[in-house]
Amino acid sequence: MPYTYRSGRPGASRRPTKNRRAPQNSRKRGYIDPARFIAAAKNTATSVAYEPKHQFSDFDVNPLIAANLQAKGYTTPSPIQDQAIPHGLAGRDVLGLASTGTGKTAAFAVPVLNKMMADPDSSAIIIAPTRELAEQIEAEFRSIGKGSRLMGALLIGGSSMRTQLLDLKAGARIIIGTPGRIKDHLERGTLKLDNFSIAVLDEVDRMLDMGFIGDIRHILSHMPNDRQSFFFSATITPAIRTLIDGFTDDPVTVKIESSRASENVHQDVIRYNDRSDKFAKLKEVLAHESVSKAIIFDETQRGVERLYKSLEEHGFAVDSMHGGKSQGQRQRALRKFKQSEVNFLVATDVAARGIDVADITHVINYSTPEVYDDYIHRIGRAGRAGKTGYSFTFVESRGTAHF
Ligand code: AMP
Repeated sequence: MPYTYRSGRPGASRRPTKNRRAPQNSRKRGYIDPARFIAAAKNTATSVAYEPKHQFSDFDVNPLIAANLQAKGYTTPSPIQDQAIPHGLAGRDVLGLASTGTGKTAAFAVPVLNKMMADPDSSAIIIAPTRELAEQIEAEFRSIGKGSRLMGALLIGGSSMRTQLLDLKAGARIIIGTPGRIKDHLERGTLKLDNFSIAVLDEVDRMLDMGFIGDIRHILSHMPNDRQSFFFSATITPAIRTLIDGFTDDPVTVKIESSRASENVHQDVIRYNDRSDKFAKLKEVLAHESVSKAIIFDETQRGVERLYKSLEEHGFAVDSMHGGKSQGQRQRALRKFKQSEVNFLVATDVAARGIDVADITHVINYSTPEVYDDYIHRIGRAGRAGKTGYSFTFVESRGTAHF
């Protein structure tokens, strides 16, 4: 599809999709001390404001990109953009240590699109852990590259293979997708990466958590060594370091100190006695006027559906998102939530990964996450763009007397 019109794609299949990947990493699971779910939000007003060295108008980019950035209202770069874009434009490999909500997408989209427009022989692949994140990246690419007539393909699971094949045949030069589907295309011979000159890996830490390391290595090994690489990750572990060392060339590291979105989040627990008390307390919280947009996490797909139906029966404007839903259903739920047609979204961790909804005020952990990392990731959905967010985690009051 050319980057001229925003098409109504992807043609989502109605077939429910399975969660193809079970986590294969060895992250410790189990009990998390409830004390770790309690923290006051840092007063961001007293933290030192970042002073950017550039404005978007300073970057030496194609005038079409400059105009599109201006039309999007991007005038002042975020810290990751301010520091990564000049190196990206200069052709360096970039390692960006930043989480979602920091503006990291444009930090790689601007240099990648600029290169695509300057060099008609160049092609880029952008790999993301989830379909939703891949779609958001595509939307950002389409708006920054609007009018360029560059051709793109979105290669994600749960969406029409036919459309993907047509886009690839039409000569897509910007491939955005998830590891599993990209690998499928490589194996079918419908995608060839021999002449791709740019690779972007977004949320590398999440991709490794989801067990995609083998697929990523496989994909990168199909690319020429002489390429530009962008790796983005919120955290860096020895496994990530090994991957980076193997697949980048003397990368510039850009670290965003304030990347822990959780610092803006006021965190507390809600104690409950039994199931009916738990649900009653949830209703009480959601009915509070300060809770204008909340994401409610539950552990399993069944749990999410049950909770969603109960809340709907009690008159809440709610929708649900989990890996058992079709891509079309997930997109619809996300759109309704973004546009405030519903105020509440019940979701599993997998479905909520990478979603960018700017005005979420509250994150409710109806069930505690299995690992603390997931907790940090969940609460980072609130408190975006410097606003204070709130998180409430339900904790069972075992053995305590209640009156
Ligand atoms: P990201 O971390 O790339 O998902 O971006 C988070 C949000 O910030 C998205 O909604 C972007 O559209 C928005 N955004 C990114 N960069 C800028 C900027 N320089 N000025 C204003 N908004 C931005």
